[in-house]
Amino acid sequence: MAKIYNNPKEHLVIIINTEEATKLGFGIPQFGGNICICGTCNSITDDNEIYYFASLNEVMCAKCAQTYCNNINHYLDSNSVQYEIRHFNHVAAALNMKERAGTSPGGKIVIYNVEDTRYENIDVKESTDADNYLSSTEFHDLKCYNGE
Ligand SMILES: [Zn+2]
Repeated sequence: MAKIYNNPKEHLVIIINTEEATKLGFGIPQFGGNICICGTCNSITDDNEIYYFASLNEVMCAKCAQTYCNNINHYLDSNSVQYEIRHFNHVAAALNMKERAGTSPGGKIVIYNVEDTRYENIDVKESTDADNYLSSTEFHDLKCYNGE
């Protein structure tokens, strides 16, 4: 079951399993169960501990995720933040999560519950509805378009 991975540098990260990774286009269907490959070290990930990084639109194994979160600074310029939020919200909606990311009036990234009306003033600049956004295939085309 997808859940937020809290990390010291506050990268937007979701822990997913292979079934969810496959739904997002990161898993590799195999007879007898899907597998997922870490986008950093190319090892097969643990079935229930795959880290999706919204800022990279990539998945990592636990070891690489920890190394990344300990060493890589979080880009917080406006373009980077909106790119990260867009990917996070697409994946969160696709996985039926209640969390969404947005920015506070001061421009800080916040995670909120879509069912919590206290956060109606949060400025979410991208669609949070996966059905009205991009299909999984289009989403990966976007990744290529951005030169990643
Ligand atoms: Zn790895």
